[in-house]
Amino acid sequence: MARYTDAVCRLCRREGEKLYLKGTRCTGPNCSFDKKGYAPGEHGARQNMRRRRESDYNMQLRAKQKARRIYGVYEKQFRRYFREATRAPGLTGDVLVSLLERRLDNVVYRLGYATSRAQARQLVTHGHFDVNGRRNNIPSYTVAEGDVITVRPASRGNRYFSQQEFRSGDVLPSWLAFDPSSLEGRVLQAPRPEETPMDLNVQLIVEYYSAR
Ligand code: SF4
Repeated sequence: MARYTDAVCRLCRREGEKLYLKGTRCTGPNCSFDKKGYAPGEHGARQNMRRRRESDYNMQLRAKQKARRIYGVYEKQFRRYFREATRAPGLTGDVLVSLLERRLDNVVYRLGYATSRAQARQLVTHGHFDVNGRRNNIPSYTVAEGDVITVRPASRGNRYFSQQEFRSGDVLPSWLAFDPSSLEGRVLQAPRPEETPMDLNVQLIVEYYSAR
């Protein structure tokens, strides 16, 4: 499986906003974007000072890249999600976000087991979760309404799961339910478009792929 191995904080600086990719570091004093809020690279600071009109293409590209980076999805897979969204009933942009939100790694993050999607992905690949009672270690697995996501019995005793209290907190959307006592999450319904995270401009993403 291909993996992004460069400095993650560069991605926030490239997009010109905090994407919250590194968990607790993002809200602490060591956030790179708070220290250097300009584009990465030798001429990054100068680029930011230059005022230029953004082309339509650039705005569409940036919207698409931002979504990809938030969910940690590679271009090929992201394009596949888009194709699937165009074939499904409903607005393409809404279906696309629904597919991204229903990724198992995102659901694990939203349930509060991890402080970032990257950490959630690792927990999933290490096989700590069951979906409907069966082990599932596929981060891209798409959950459906009624699915139950639980920490595997064998993992409950390990240090990570036994020595901290999990609470879903701010990131739990209304389409998910979480019971901290039984470490059980449930998909109540399809994700709601109005709960799109971090102001994703899905219209621009649709325009980007529709034009090419
Ligand atoms: Fe982005 Fe988090 Fe790095 Fe800050 S610490 S630049 S929000 S990934």
